[in-house]
Amino acid sequence: MSDYQVTLIPGDGIGPEVAAATRRVLDASGITFEWEERDAGMTALERDGDVLPEKTLASVRRNGVGLKGPITTPIGGGFRSVNVGLRQALGLYANLRPGRTMAGVRSVFDDIDLVVVRENLEGMYSGVEFDAGTPEAADVIARINERGTKPVALEAAISIKVITPENSRRIVRYAFEYARANNRKLVTAVHKANIMKFTDGLFLRMAQEVAAEYPEIEFNDRIVDNMCMQLMQRAQDYDVLVMPNLYGDIISDLVAGMVGGLGVAPSGNIGPDAAVFEPIHGSAPSHAGKDEANPTAMILSGALMLRHLGERSAAERVERAVGEVIRAGERVTYDLRPDRDPAKAVGTSGMADAIIERLAG
Ligand code: NAD
Repeated sequence: MSDYQVTLIPGDGIGPEVAAATRRVLDASGITFEWEERDAGMTALERDGDVLPEKTLASVRRNGVGLKGPITTPIGGGFRSVNVGLRQALGLYANLRPGRTMAGVRSVFDDIDLVVVRENLEGMYSGVEFDAGTPEAADVIARINERGTKPVALEAAISIKVITPENSRRIVRYAFEYARANNRKLVTAVHKANIMKFTDGLFLRMAQEVAAEYPEIEFNDRIVDNMCMQLMQRAQDYDVLVMPNLYGDIISDLVAGMVGGLGVAPSGNIGPDAAVFEPIHGSAPSHAGKDEANPTAMILSGALMLRHLGERSAAERVERAVGEVIRAGERVTYDLRPDRDPAKAVGTSGMADAIIERLAG
């Protein structure tokens, strides 16, 4: 009998290779898993005629947790985005993106240890949009102009930013709960409430209300542009950052860049009934099938999943083993070597072997 049943979505391109490496590492973590493999992306399109088959969604719903590789987004019309589709279908409202510098990973910064919590479902990504020149846009613009607040040009395109009290409270509460469970000391709400007084103003007010429920955790807030500068100059002053969707999209990539980029950046998408963990990188088609892609981001996503499952010490063991292998710098993929020489590097599976040996040692 396994400890957990998890839906494994290997995905496209390098996905199956980094997923196989991750599966082996997690199986060596001391926790036992029953993996339920399901398709999404191009693989699913070829097999089932749908990039996000219902049986994949049903499996994640049933297991409550999924681990997903990257998905190739088919170019051309008519395809729904698998990542957005998954988040919407499963109500995965919180996007969790930790960023920590690791010895051995090239970065202009050192000593960074941040967690970005992004609202995943609303804000500027509400999907309520009206294209320029359409009757719908003309209707919306006419109604806005009737209100006489500030005239909107008739030829404008319109995107509606939606911020609700309920979802703002929920994401900020998630950030505080994460801080509490992971012994973090400070939560910073990031916003632009000085300009967007109603939407971001509401987000900030809800953040302040929720913060009062967690007196043991410090709380402050920063305007998003200042936040970017602060991250460049004094990132050590920050800990957990929580913010609406668009700011989270940008700041989480900024933080990923600060700690060494795509190959090492994990993430999680969490909802009330299910959670899906995934590397932030794409399917890197040029590396596919060559056993050379860096498995670190997906392995660290697996460690995040272990934390989510309450298996903190197993998560720490995996993170430590990955850190040791990268610091040693011998059995790492080519992108982690200063010379980027594939001849001197190990492959995806070789790096996983090295991590598994550390876990066993
Ligand atoms: P990408 O992340 O696949 O690649 C960007 C660069 O980083 C490339 O040079 C690639 O070789 C390198 N890279 C990425 N991951 C790596 C790894 N683990 N090891 C070594 N090198 C790695 O981004 P892209 O090229 O813009 O996109 C390729 C495909 O992936 C597209 O179809 C895109 O839509 C999709 N994509 C999916 C996701 C996702 O599923 N979460 C995210 C981003 C892009």
